[in-house]
Amino acid sequence: MLKKLGALIIIQFIFSTSLYANDKLNIFACEPEWKSLAEEIGGDMVKAFSATHAKQDPHYIRARPSLISKIRRADLIFCSGAGLEVGWMPILVQKARSQVQPGNIGYFMASKYTPVIDIPNEIDRGHGDVHPEGNPHVHLDPHNILLVAKELNRRLSIIDSKNKSFYQEQYNNFVDKWQNSILRWNKEIESIKGKRIIIHHKSFDYLFNWLQLNEIASLEVKPGIPPTASHLKNILENTNKNSVDIIVVSPYDPTEGALWLSEKTQIPVVTLPYTIGGNEESNNLIALFDSSIKILQNALYDK
Ligand SMILES: [Zn+2]
Repeated sequence: MLKKLGALIIIQFIFSTSLYANDKLNIFACEPEWKSLAEEIGGDMVKAFSATHAKQDPHYIRARPSLISKIRRADLIFCSGAGLEVGWMPILVQKARSQVQPGNIGYFMASKYTPVIDIPNEIDRGHGDVHPEGNPHVHLDPHNILLVAKELNRRLSIIDSKNKSFYQEQYNNFVDKWQNSILRWNKEIESIKGKRIIIHHKSFDYLFNWLQLNEIASLEVKPGIPPTASHLKNILENTNKNSVDIIVVSPYDPTEGALWLSEKTQIPVVTLPYTIGGNEESNNLIALFDSSIKILQNALYDK
């Protein structure tokens, strides 16, 4: 009898949890930072998935069949926008439901709610520039995270109105936690302001603007155009004249250019996590900023 009762309880448990799982909002995030933010605000009410991971360049992934099956079920599509996913998202979005099509509540592009920097004077996609709408890597300014979180809360509360008060509470807790972190970070970053940096791709411009670091050059000729010998030679000539403290790359950048320049100049190459999972410590948004600041502090300590 007891055995039967136990089995019944287990069956009921499986049944109720599967029902519960089906009740959750499916969030299709393009990048790990938005999956993480969706989990911060959505908590147990959402099931978030990221189309890319930290070792992939979000500009260039393949719209593979497994992504199509994920996007078909999405209640919310949550991406950076500003052209970051233009190479692979449009074909996926075609397969998604009407409520997540562009212009609808379930189609959420973070960069529409943040300032966008590096907007070129003239559109130049013909020459391969992958940032014709400005810099899409908006998540690395912590103030932008607050702006995006606010809009995310608004959208979740409309899409899943029965849980509106839950999302509001999660959002309030997140904002408190995040604002306290910004106060702490503002103290920690004092010592590195004004340091001089070369980057591979303009992935970190929002971070460096916030940190008031001085970006001297990019190894890419233009965003998305790999370093050429003549471009690297120009940078080498300039770095000989002006001191540069570090060369920064992301976990997915090709490192040949950075290593070549480092070998010629003895300027160290530093890898920043860029997003959640970019290194072991960066397993949530606060840890991502903690880790980035710690790495920069260590690298720039005696510069
Ligand atoms: Zn980019």
